[in-house]
Amino acid sequence: MFIAPQTLRIDRRKFLGAGAALVAAGVLPKSVLALSGPHSFKHGNFDVTVVSDGSFEIPLEIINKEAKPEDLRALLGLAADAKTNHMEFSPVLVKSGSDVILFDTGNGVGNNGAGMLVESLKTAGVEPGAITKVIYTHAHPDHLWGTLKDGKPVFANASHHVAEAEWNFWTNPDLPSKMPEAMKGMVQTTQAQLAGIKDKVAMFKPGAEVVPGINVIDTPGHTPGHVSFELAGGDGLVLTGDAVTVPKVFFAHPDWAFGFDADGATAGKSRRALLDMAASGKKLMLGYHWPYPGLGRAEANDGAFVYVQA
Ligand SMILES: [Zn+2]
Repeated sequence: MFIAPQTLRIDRRKFLGAGAALVAAGVLPKSVLALSGPHSFKHGNFDVTVVSDGSFEIPLEIINKEAKPEDLRALLGLAADAKTNHMEFSPVLVKSGSDVILFDTGNGVGNNGAGMLVESLKTAGVEPGAITKVIYTHAHPDHLWGTLKDGKPVFANASHHVAEAEWNFWTNPDLPSKMPEAMKGMVQTTQAQLAGIKDKVAMFKPGAEVVPGINVIDTPGHTPGHVSFELAGGDGLVLTGDAVTVPKVFFAHPDWAFGFDADGATAGKSRRALLDMAASGKKLMLGYHWPYPGLGRAEANDGAFVYVQA
């Protein structure tokens, strides 16, 4: 079921009321009340709803390994003794004609307070079986591991769309042996998630129109086949994925590597190009890990960018 967009324009207070009623009725777990959103708006011909997989705290050294902690705290507006920064996980639901499209599937159940995507979708009136297409920015755990539950696809009626380079990288049978010991388990779980959708998968390449009005932007570096998307309408809406993870840091320092960038130099080039394109085109941006609901704009500033929360 997909509730009409007019009814989806729920503000947080009303949502909490509706969520509380569903919790009281035993439909949703209590933890859903800690979730942000859903946040809905219209963009061109698309009905966009930012849902939530939850959030958790990440250590400052993951944001950037070289920067001094005090510099990161200043950029993030954190207290002098802060050791972590709050990070959201916000998949995006887009309704276009008869399609109900989900961008990324979250962490999967039971990951440190995240893994809440299915509950969040239900508060938005969307059952997992109503999703017609799942489209991925990349195959890291926090974007992919909500794909299977107990070995079965959660979005059972959906086709799954993955960038060819990303699929080929992660499904390589030799990959676990090439990875450091500490990452082997992660790679094996990722491979199991991808194997579970291999009969439902469609590959795309950067530059493709993956759905009418939704274009694939090549933003490699965070992972080898990482992509972002632009939705047509107005000046455009860019779904950044993890090309820009922490806006207060990386708009000002686009060339810094994020701790989980596989290739920091390439990620920096992709980040700068994406922010440049968004700033010069005055495009709206939506960041998966940005302060909820993740909407913002980039303004060019002296060789870098200013993050304007929208
Ligand atoms: Zn991520």
